[in-house]
Amino acid sequence: MSPSHQLPKNYDIEEVERRWQDTWRDEENYFDPDSTKPRFIIDTPPPYPTGNFHIGNALNWFYIDFVARYKRMRGFNVMFPQGWDCHGLPTEVKVEETYGITKNDVPRERFREMCRDLTLGNIEKMRATMRRLGFSTDWSHEYVTMLPEYYKKTQASFLQMLKAGDIYQSEHPVNFCTRCETAIAFAEVNYAPRTTTLNYFDFDGVEIATTRPELLAACVAVAVHPGDERYRGMKGATLAVPIFGHRVPVIEDVAVDPEFGSGAVMICTFGDKTDVYWWKQHSLDLRKAIDRQGVMTAVAGRYAGMSSDACRKAILEDMEEAGILKRREELEQRVGTCWRCKTPIEILSERQWFVRVHQKEILEAAKEITWLPEHMFTRLENWTESMEWDWCISRQRIFATPIPVWFCDACGDMILPAMEDLPVDPTADMPKAPCPRCGGTRFTGEKDVLDTWMDSSISVLHVTGWDGSSRPPLFPAQLRPQGHDIIRTWAFYTILRSKALAGSHPWEQILINGMVLGDDGFKMSKSRNNIISPEEVVGKYGADALRQWGAGGAAIGSDIMFNWNDVVAASRFQTKLWNIFRFVMGHLERGADPAAPVTELIDRWLLVRLSDTVAEATAAMEGYQFDRALKAVREFAWNTLADDYIEIAKGRLYAEEGGRASAASALRTTMDVLCRLLAPIIPHFAEECYHILTGGSVHKEAWPDFTYADDEARRHGDLLVKTVAELRRYKHDKGMALNAPLGHVTIYAPEPVDDTGDAGRALAADAHWRTGTPRLDEVTDGVDFNMAVIGPALRKQARGFMEAVRALPPDLLKNPPVAVTVDGEEVFVPPGSFTPKIAYQVAGEEVDVLTLGDVVVTIGHSS
Ligand SMILES: [Zn+2]
Ligand SMILES: [Zn+2]
Repeated sequence: MSPSHQLPKNYDIEEVERRWQDTWRDEENYFDPDSTKPRFIIDTPPPYPTGNFHIGNALNWFYIDFVARYKRMRGFNVMFPQGWDCHGLPTEVKVEETYGITKNDVPRERFREMCRDLTLGNIEKMRATMRRLGFSTDWSHEYVTMLPEYYKKTQASFLQMLKAGDIYQSEHPVNFCTRCETAIAFAEVNYAPRTTTLNYFDFDGVEIATTRPELLAACVAVAVHPGDERYRGMKGATLAVPIFGHRVPVIEDVAVDPEFGSGAVMICTFGDKTDVYWWKQHSLDLRKAIDRQGVMTAVAGRYAGMSSDACRKAILEDMEEAGILKRREELEQRVGTCWRCKTPIEILSERQWFVRVHQKEILEAAKEITWLPEHMFTRLENWTESMEWDWCISRQRIFATPIPVWFCDACGDMILPAMEDLPVDPTADMPKAPCPRCGGTRFTGEKDVLDTWMDSSISVLHVTGWDGSSRPPLFPAQLRPQGHDIIRTWAFYTILRSKALAGSHPWEQILINGMVLGDDGFKMSKSRNNIISPEEVVGKYGADALRQWGAGGAAIGSDIMFNWNDVVAASRFQTKLWNIFRFVMGHLERGADPAAPVTELIDRWLLVRLSDTVAEATAAMEGYQFDRALKAVREFAWNTLADDYIEIAKGRLYAEEGGRASAASALRTTMDVLCRLLAPIIPHFAEECYHILTGGSVHKEAWPDFTYADDEARRHGDLLVKTVAELRRYKHDKGMALNAPLGHVTIYAPEPVDDTGDAGRALAADAHWRTGTPRLDEVTDGVDFNMAVIGPALRKQARGFMEAVRALPPDLLKNPPVAVTVDGEEVFVPPGSFTPKIAYQVAGEEVDVLTLGDVVVTIGHSS
């Protein structure tokens, strides 16, 4: 216990937080595989190593850290791992930008190396921010998806699902980014509004409207609604495609909207998802007019080699020249774009690898999970039900987990590696045995790589100890914390994969956090210049203040606006707590027995309120309602402890006589419990105080199970607090200093109250508690004149009238006579010309009276 005179007056955030971060050891947060405690495994999100741990990440990790610290205090063996989801386009794009190359300019392995180096540097930067924010990460469970120990498991998961028939390859239309030159999944397509032009043209006698004339070469049919009278009898006819001349059938389909344009639409392979639907439904031809780079193919005839944009212009000019372009209109459209580079996506039919989406199974597994908040389940449900295509998992990129298969050059059979040979890079390694079917020894390795979600969707299998084959020993995890923006990707894919690979749902609970908006209420973005970095906030107010902002800003699942005022308020709360703490330590040092029984009324009342606060904070933490927990603790510390309790008990604490030990003991208990309640949210501050108080670490202590029931203390303490507050207000209203003597105060309460003299000390009064009601005598004490009535009514007689009234006996002041005598003359008393002043007396002493509910207080000044 450091003497309080050595406690600095100001809480030096930077110094204290740094000191504890240097003191705490990583080992303290390790998951213990040999422990018999119940386990609590968190499937922490592996962030993308951009090098920038942004404030949205911070919010997500605050929630995780609150839970991890709370659960440890509740006796759980907690695993709070940290992964890094490394693969993917953003890093490739960054490397391409940095070195001014494209992926094809250098050998594959060299390109991968450049990506790995960039990623390792970025991870290092992000780790530093995470440590500065005070997370209790289990660094012994760190994983990096680009390293062999991890991606061999991704490959194992691929092979297991391939063997089970849940992964297949097929030529199928997929979303394709021609800038990134790769297929992408539906979850990676963003939709943005765009103004485009709708072109009406003559299609062999039928009017067609299209926004994509460059796809004319890929036209495979014209479709009309079966009920459309305008096209009656045309079904089965063929039409010649303008400019290109190939003939296509007219088909009928109820999905055609007769209201749009002329009611006839051309079907191309592929303009959009509907084209894909019709193409499948009617078994139409496939004409690939656009290639993977977005360049027109030979199918486009004389337009071959043009970009699709150039082709569009050329075709429109040629239509104009041929006199078949009738008119053009502007059209608002939602266009699918690549999530990464915003290029409008094309739908190309390519040989790709797919994961089967078993919607029913996924939903069944999702229902086994507790969704927090509950309504987030609906998002997953809607997304799952809207899935029309299987999950395209192959990418035509480099920095990713290789698809571990070869094809025999002689017979074409697929050759798989043995599990013990993983990881493999089929573009560099070769199968260890000849082809089992034909004995061939020449193979071609699969060049496609896996969608990065194939890596991250087994994070839960990895952290629960998966060896790549059977169900992991610690599966399922207890909690998945993540943002609502990746429900349709990370949550969805993880549930899908857990069901396929481990047979059940991946976690018991999923806790969803919202997004962080800028202080202008908009999504943070460079263009709005509203980005706040965690480092900026921590540099000014410390990690604990930012953590309080994260806890208190909003209910879980809700988006939260960054607000400097909240951080400032959080920092003020710490200042206030530090002042309370110094005050308490000052008194604890004066030798009172810290284990003394708590005997006095307001001390017992404090413990009753503390017990309420523990119950409220515990219920809140159990439901991950961090805002509610923080609010309960803040209100207790600020209002109950500082404003109410300390103001009342202060006098007794400073006094030398008995009753000091009871207060000191209550305060010691209170500070101990408060430190524990605050430990998950403001770990540095709580540690600093707890260490001064006990010499130990609060993070090794249990969550407080403090209960204290004392109904009498609750009732009487409430009366005492209310009475003292009212009398302090009374002093203030009278213009008295708060420490000015108040005279005789008698508090008449419904029951006998023993406040051990606290009210008197707090009010500088001679205060006594009594039961019942005071015997008040009403006395008339002077008179108030109403000059607005007297002046006009009596004029020159006013002065004489007032003298005569003052001379009246008290009972006549209360019941005024009709007239009084002024200079021997009868003068009528004007109605409302005066009122008697009434005062109260108790046993002959004049008193002021305050009524507070069923309590009456008399204040006598004649001391
Ligand atoms: Zn792209
Ligand atoms: Zn073969």
